[in-house]
Amino acid sequence: MSHDDQDIASALRLLAEKGVTIDPEKVKREQLARIFCQVFDHARVRDHHFGYVICTRCQDRIGDNLAGPLMWDTDNVYMGHKQCAKCQRNYAALSEAEKLLCPDPFGPEVEEDDEQCDE
Ligand SMILES: [Zn+2]
Ligand SMILES: [Zn+2]
Repeated sequence: MSHDDQDIASALRLLAEKGVTIDPEKVKREQLARIFCQVFDHARVRDHHFGYVICTRCQDRIGDNLAGPLMWDTDNVYMGHKQCAKCQRNYAALSEAEKLLCPDPFGPEVEEDDEQCDE
C-alpha cells in the first residue's frame, strides 16, 4: 500500500465516522480531497501562486494577498518554506489527519521558497 493509498483509506475512515460514506470505486482522489476539505476544513498545508493562497489538498483558492503582502496566517504551513522556523514548527504540530492527502511541504522534490513567514 502506497503512502497515498494509506491517506485515502484514512480519509475514507474519518469521513465515515462523520457519517459521510463514500464508495472509493466511484469517487476519484480529487473529489475525495474536496469532500474531505468540506467536512474538515481546508488543509493547513498551503501554497501560493500569483498572489493566491491555495489549499494543497483540494487545490481551491482560499484567499489572496493581492491588496498587500502575503497573509502568513498564524497556523499555516507553506510549501517550500524549508528554512522558515514558523512553518517547521506549525508542521510538526499538525496531526496525521490534518496532513492527509497533502504533499510534504518540505520534501526533496519541493522547490525551496526564499520567503519566510514573519514571526
Ligand atoms: Zn482544501
Ligand atoms: Zn513559512
